[in-house]
Amino acid sequence: MKITIIFPARSLETARPSFTVMPLALTLLAALTPDEHEVSLVDMFMGDQVDYESDVDLVAITVRTPLAVVAYEIADNFLKRGKKVVLGGPHMFAFPAEAKQHASAVAVGEAENLWRVILEDAVRDELKDFYVCGPYEEQTLPGRVHHEKQRPDLKNLPMMRRDLLPRKRYFMDSIFTTRGCPNHCRFCPVTDIFGPKIRHRPIDDVVAEVDTLGKRYFNVDDSVFGHPQMVDRPQENRYYLDLYRELARLRPKRLWSGAGGLSAINYKDGRKILELAAESGLYSIAAGLESISAEGQKQSGAWRKLHYKSPDSFDLQQTKDNIRAIQSLGIEVMGFFIIGWDEDTPETYRRTLEFCDECNIVPFIFTLIPMPGSQIYREYVQQGRIFPDSTWDQFGGGYIVYQHPTMTAQEMFDLNAEVMLKGYSLGRIFKRTFQAMRYRFSPDVAAGSFFTQLGLRKVYRQLYGQVPRPPQQ
Ligand code: SF4
Repeated sequence: MKITIIFPARSLETARPSFTVMPLALTLLAALTPDEHEVSLVDMFMGDQVDYESDVDLVAITVRTPLAVVAYEIADNFLKRGKKVVLGGPHMFAFPAEAKQHASAVAVGEAENLWRVILEDAVRDELKDFYVCGPYEEQTLPGRVHHEKQRPDLKNLPMMRRDLLPRKRYFMDSIFTTRGCPNHCRFCPVTDIFGPKIRHRPIDDVVAEVDTLGKRYFNVDDSVFGHPQMVDRPQENRYYLDLYRELARLRPKRLWSGAGGLSAINYKDGRKILELAAESGLYSIAAGLESISAEGQKQSGAWRKLHYKSPDSFDLQQTKDNIRAIQSLGIEVMGFFIIGWDEDTPETYRRTLEFCDECNIVPFIFTLIPMPGSQIYREYVQQGRIFPDSTWDQFGGGYIVYQHPTMTAQEMFDLNAEVMLKGYSLGRIFKRTFQAMRYRFSPDVAAGSFFTQLGLRKVYRQLYGQVPRPPQQ
């Protein structure tokens, strides 16, 4: 069969591809495709066009919620032309029946155990309606279901097919080393999608793969230092210690970035893991702090991943100390915050930016998006707080899609715009770049930090300056 795998994007995304990471979903699915098939990849984010007139037999589209509308349009166009269409990706987990209206088949869950079965069924013209991997109440699915109950164990995965995309156009490659997250943050569907148990790829496989990558890569794991709940398990720590020791030996050494918790620095072995990670090329981490208040920690559920025993024991000074300790190892910290928890006020936006300024962290301050599949989404739907006229493409930032108890949607939008436009003023970008240079004296890292921030400045200026205003209450 001729197969096309599509990463959809809207004109909003294609207009601002500045900090670009090669999409893992496409290259992984292509790698899982048996040799007898011919595969092509379309990354619309980078401006690739969809060819509806091609003689392709099967089209697979990966769907994230903000891109569901455009993904469905593409799928409908191919269905009209008599092509088989398979939809997969995180949005399927929450809305498989909705997706089925636009597809020959819908894949729910991880692809490793499903893709080969889907292709075999497609060749025989016997596609089922749903293909599901992992625990799932399959009786909720309206149609014929193929269910693989076990999640993939991540051993013996084929090498990603990065050769199918023009490597040079991406700022970074991407890899993953683990899947699963035990934290169950209330705003995030990852624990449900990948399960609470952490699965690791074999270290040799990861190192061999990194050895094929370009100069920089992004590790898409939920935490590159492990999860605090696991820290007393020596085997868990061993994985990271061994992995980074091996990666540090690679030549040329790659620079890399990923998502990590701040608390690793406080536990036994954690500091060593951080040091080895820095030595292996880790130069920046995305840290999901989510809130600077105990109440925000409670409502987001983030306190667990920050390694507090309860939300009330959240300690802002400790968080600042952790940030400084990580920066002192030469690792730049990017702080991710969600504002719009019930107790938040306009001051929360401003205080959060002040906190970022004080700690010299790159600010990612966003108003809450109750993402389908998350606990918060289910609660807000039940409470009737999601604006009924919200469309999926408004679940990607730049819109307010739910009712806050005290702030209006317009107010939250304006406050978010205020702090993000201020947060990426040229003065702040220069200051943070200078600091990044102090953490690690590397022109390469400083240039990366500067141009990434400049790219983000462009993104936020577009997001908060040009897109239509959010729905009004
Ligand atoms: S936000 Fe991060 S730590 Fe929390 S559930 Fe999602 S992936 Fe896990």
